[in-house]
Amino acid sequence: MSRTSLAIRVLGPYGGSAPGYRLTTFLVDGETAIDAGALTDSLPLAAQRRVRRVVLTHAHFDHVASLPFLTANLYGRTSEPLEVLAPAPVISALRAHVFNETTWPDFTRYPSPARPTVRFRVIAEGRPARAGSVTVTAVAVNHAIASYGYVVAKRGAAVVFSGDTGPTERLWKVARRTPDLRAVFLECSFSDGEKALASESLHLTPRGVREELPKLPPDVPVFLYHLKPFSVSRIRREIAALKEPRLRLLESERSFRF
Ligand SMILES: [Zn+2]
Ligand SMILES: [Zn+2]
Repeated sequence: MSRTSLAIRVLGPYGGSAPGYRLTTFLVDGETAIDAGALTDSLPLAAQRRVRRVVLTHAHFDHVASLPFLTANLYGRTSEPLEVLAPAPVISALRAHVFNETTWPDFTRYPSPARPTVRFRVIAEGRPARAGSVTVTAVAVNHAIASYGYVVAKRGAAVVFSGDTGPTERLWKVARRTPDLRAVFLECSFSDGEKALASESLHLTPRGVREELPKLPPDVPVFLYHLKPFSVSRIRREIAALKEPRLRLLESERSFRF
């Protein structure tokens, strides 16, 4: 049986911003972004126009920072609005705090309400939603605000993105019963020396990652992302010391085909 592969491009693997450190952004099959920290930094204009939708894990700024600039670039240049998909709390936060006519124009009404630049689509938690070439299933995780991991799937291949989270359960339960799972992209924001900060802000450190591992489906590679730039070298040493062959650090742009 033939199937098309699932293409994942890492545009931004970091949880902080500096030259060489792009904010969290993944691109699926060239047209569906998972988070939007750095879409406009990393994609040329022509490729920005090919982005048809953005799936958001949560409303923290490191995950939505490029969305205002993307909508401005697309204004008047798309026949179909850019779709922004997320569960209701994320969409509400975007409406209230970003596209609110103060922080940024409400591009759901421009150029006109009938032909807007962007359209918000609320998706239900726990149910697969069609997103172009893939389905995305949002699963609530454990973070300071409403935050979701995602199962991104098509026939014959699936991957999981954790979103920002501290120790969590439900996402791993869903991951364990996901057929054809090829990879887990898991956050690891701080070093073990910053454990207090990680616990308070609901993020993982290398030790926390190791404690999550037995809950994950066995045998799939685990790619760590959302590293805070100041913590990268420490995290790298701590992960190496764990000697867990499944763990790999995402430290730059990479492309995967599953
Ligand atoms: Zn973040
Ligand atoms: Zn966050």
